[in-house]
Amino acid sequence: MQASLSTSSAATASQGDASGPQEVRDRIALCCSHTEAATWELGLRAALPHATISAWPHTDEQAECAIVWSPTQAFMDAHPRLRIIFNMGAGVDALMKLRLPPQARIVRIEDGGMAVQMAEYVSHAVLRHFREFDRYEASAASGAWAPRKPPIRSDFPVGVMGLGALGKRVAWSLAQFDFPVFGWSQSPKTIDGVTCLSGADEFDRFLSETRILVCMLPLTPATQGILSHASLSQLKPGGYLINVARGAHLVEEDLLRLIDEGHLAGATLDVTQEEPLPPGHAFWRRPEIVLTPHIAAQTVVREAIAQIATKVSAGLESPTLSGVVDLGKGY
Ligand code: NAP
Repeated sequence: MQASLSTSSAATASQGDASGPQEVRDRIALCCSHTEAATWELGLRAALPHATISAWPHTDEQAECAIVWSPTQAFMDAHPRLRIIFNMGAGVDALMKLRLPPQARIVRIEDGGMAVQMAEYVSHAVLRHFREFDRYEASAASGAWAPRKPPIRSDFPVGVMGLGALGKRVAWSLAQFDFPVFGWSQSPKTIDGVTCLSGADEFDRFLSETRILVCMLPLTPATQGILSHASLSQLKPGGYLINVARGAHLVEEDLLRLIDEGHLAGATLDVTQEEPLPPGHAFWRRPEIVLTPHIAAQTVVREAIAQIATKVSAGLESPTLSGVVDLGKGY
């Protein structure tokens, strides 16, 4: 893929010289805190051959474009000219905690291979609970041939909170198994096979229609702690929680209390307040809680690089740029 961040700069770069002054917007600062940093750097260099990519802490402080995952405040302070910051994942909550250059826009990954992973993860968790595979595994482990009465699908309506790039795929996938599926988002939506509700006015109805609740919301001031005693106690009796969004959506002690009170049957949690989950945490000792280490949907590096490179190539001011975060809403 050929990259041109601006027409003039592409022309300069395509002359292939080190002598001509390079447009500052062709300089990309990379800040990648995870283990795939080298893969990202190599992939971006291949996808954007005309750009100069420098990796933190040896980045170009004139850069107007950054590609980041969990950057530090020091990185932001060192690049006051940034106009666009591409986030290597879908969730931008870590970025929103930083002081960003005031003119900077954030662009997040849209799906990039994560929606299908989320659909797999959530479908597996829903089916495991609904079909009682945990009980069959326990029976088999103790050498017992113990058939159980088949569950009734209509008794297990699923509610998906958040119908964005990932949530809408999850809701649609669950509808393919003929579960009654409800969705809830900020603005009204239409998804085949899903009863879509929206806004604060319809939140209580959404909860009371739901037995298996899936959280696919972004973490924002409006959604932090949204999975609380007040909300979870409105689920149908025997309710079950699947949180694949962020740990801070859940008030953890409220979940334990509702399980102890018998209102909730359990939970599958891919995310927790503190990650990694500390060794002494109560969740480790609860058989009703299935834990995974924040792996529900991982950025597919090749797809994410292709998505970012296409957007970079279209130009920083492209009117068709999608995935731009609304800084007021926080997602
Ligand atoms: P997205 O496209 O931004 O969609 C967010 C959805 O949430 C939208 O439907 C939005 O409503 C809704 N929403 C936001 N605030 C709301 C509120 N206050 N009330 C009701 N609805 C609200 O996000 P996405 O790409 O689907 O990703 C969702 C989240 O998944 C990410 O932010 C990230 O935290 C998490 N995630 C987790 C993993 C993992 O491995 N566990 C991996 C990737 C992502 P509107 O459509 O009306 O705006």
